Amino acid sequence: KGDIEFNNVTFGYENHSHVLKAINLSIRAGETIALVGPSGAGKSTLCSLIPRFYEIDDGAVSIDGIDIRAMKQQSLRNQIGIVQQEVFLFNGTIRENIAYGRLDATEEQVWEAARQAHLESMILALPDGLDTFIGERGLKLSGGQRQRLSIARIFLKNPPILILDEATSALDTETETLIQQALERLSHNRTTLIIAHRLATIRHADRIVVVTEEGIEEQGRHEDLIAAGG
Ligand code: ADP
Ligand code: ADP
Repeated sequence: KGDIEFNNVTFGYENHSHVLKAINLSIRAGETIALVGPSGAGKSTLCSLIPRFYEIDDGAVSIDGIDIRAMKQQSLRNQIGIVQQEVFLFNGTIRENIAYGRLDATEEQVWEAARQAHLESMILALPDGLDTFIGERGLKLSGGQRQRLSIARIFLKNPPILILDEATSALDTETETLIQQALERLSHNRTTLIIAHRLATIRHADRIVVVTEEGIEEQGRHEDLIAAGG
């Protein structure tokens, strides 16, 4: 569970030329893939095609052999945890935002997820704790707090596919390291892990995929790329 296949995928944003052209990429269940490459090459775009945030122009994206267009949105999203630089939170309490898509979660499980994402001390300092309202008139969270909240969602959801797109970029180094370690533990749990991030944090990747404007350029292990002077 968690195989991902890009088959001849071509995509461009509306009124823009193609960002991804005839991309082929096979990711095996449980594999950790690092996407690297220059800014603007299309790493984030590639990530957001997996949960089908956008419709591709040609080709197919499949999960476990099923074209994602043939899946119900809910069952697709249930299989995928995605953390992006721009975090999507809705108006509601911290508890609701962490337990998003997991309304059956117990108090204990929500706290555990918050603890793993290093949100616990922040929540304990709030007047209403987990029931503090986030939103237009509620608590304003910093970029790092928003990212930690979306990471807490992932710890609670434990999806077979995890996509971290510059997911820890707004965190301080210490928190970043701790969360990285916790996510690596999660990924040993047969999770397919896709990380688009700077090179330093992807030592444990099974494969490095270099995305450039020309397409997917090179694939290999970190050590091989270093040896080749990359
Ligand atoms: P990377 O993640 O490698 O930095 P992106 O996938 O963010 O690259 O961007 C690839 C290209 O698509 C860039 O030229 C960027 O300007 C463009 N792009 C990204 N998001 C959008 C969007 N929502 N609408 C239009 N163009 C976009
Ligand atoms: P839902 O399960 O309700 O779709 P999501 O968090 O996956 O919740 O996304 C909420 C909505 O926002 C979705 O309809 C999705 O299409 C859109 N969305 C979320 N993240 C992005 C993104 N990075 N780019 C474009 N659309 C997004």
